[in-house]
Amino acid sequence: MAQDVWVNIETLRGEVTEISYTMLAAGKAIAKGLGGSLRAVLLGGNVKGLAGKLGAADSVTVVDHPALADFNPDAHLLALTDLAKKGAPRAFLFGQTASGTDLACGLAAKFGFPVASPCRTFKVEGGEILFEAVTCGGKIIADGKLPGPTGVAIVMPGGYKPEEAMVGGSPKVDEASPESDLGAARTRFRAYIEPDTSDVDISKIPILISVGRGIGQKENIDAAKELAAALGGEVSSSRPIVDQGWLPTSRLVGKSGKSVKPKLYLALGISGSPEHMEGLPSWETLVAINTDQKAPIYDVATFGAAVDVLELIPKLTEKVKAAKG
Ligand SMILES: Cc1cc2nc3c(=O)[nH]c(=O)nc-3n(C[C@H](O)[C@H](O)[C@H](O)COP(=O)(O)OP(=O)(O)OC[C@H]3O[C@@H](n4cnc5c(N)ncnc54)[C@H](O)[C@@H]3O)c2cc1C
Repeated sequence: MAQDVWVNIETLRGEVTEISYTMLAAGKAIAKGLGGSLRAVLLGGNVKGLAGKLGAADSVTVVDHPALADFNPDAHLLALTDLAKKGAPRAFLFGQTASGTDLACGLAAKFGFPVASPCRTFKVEGGEILFEAVTCGGKIIADGKLPGPTGVAIVMPGGYKPEEAMVGGSPKVDEASPESDLGAARTRFRAYIEPDTSDVDISKIPILISVGRGIGQKENIDAAKELAAALGGEVSSSRPIVDQGWLPTSRLVGKSGKSVKPKLYLALGISGSPEHMEGLPSWETLVAINTDQKAPIYDVATFGAAVDVLELIPKLTEKVKAAKG
């Protein structure tokens, strides 16, 4: 137990979410370095069938209860507290999502565990867990040691490929019954509020031309729309663009918008803040165009060019149109 790693598996409408696989990939690397084992902690209602999708873990602990069917901070925290009381792991990983952050901090406060957040990568050296965390909108990369005996780490997307952990297998499955009365939770789930997809559902679009504050002004977005049309894609954006009313919220990628998994993500004048990257759990090719060579987006981009987006967009559109004849 002392060298084990636990991962809080998130599910949404009966599916294991992408960040859970990112955490399993991270957890596997830490557990291997420590010589411990990796346990997936799966809370929910009728979720036992999902254990077979968590083959990257050595074992899965399922807590199945109607009060856990939808995310309920109080009920989920009670169930995790019951598990951790029986023996907490060396590291407990949570996703950098609204529910993951809520639970991680609640659990840490209950037990006095330290929290590292948001962590992108981990390594184990001399028995210590070292993390790389991204702070101040991605402008500061902090290295640190995850203190023990139990440390909580909140994991952001970008450091590990979720596909690495999307493997079958037959982990050992135990079912745990909550000792606390989950029905007595002080909070109740009311309803999902879906992100606006009235004009387009960007989560289903394979080519996204995404504009950020570097686009300068509203009128310049037309050039990005023209490029998107030439490439057969759609325009998406970072938050400042939506906050200024230059594009509708249906186009927002990130923590407060949509999660997207494009084949091509062309980031035009986007710095790559953790809140933006939260909406990009995976991509096939990410091309960053940003005049600041130290912008955090370059830490994850497949290709990049430190040029002015306003000069590049019309030239690129012309080239794409010419190539298509
Ligand atoms: C609770 C919370 C939720 C949030 N949710 C989201 C969210 O869902 N989505 C989201 O995106 N953000 C979100 N944010 C905001 C986030 O923290 C960042 O502020 C935001 O992502 C920054 O957007 P940006 O990259 O467009 O702007 P900036 O960080 O200002 O970056 C602009 C980039 O453009 C580059 N640039 C400038 N001019 C040019 C040029 N001519 N050519 C090329 N490059 C140029 C600059 O070098 C800079 O790197 C949230 C914040 C909070 C606190």
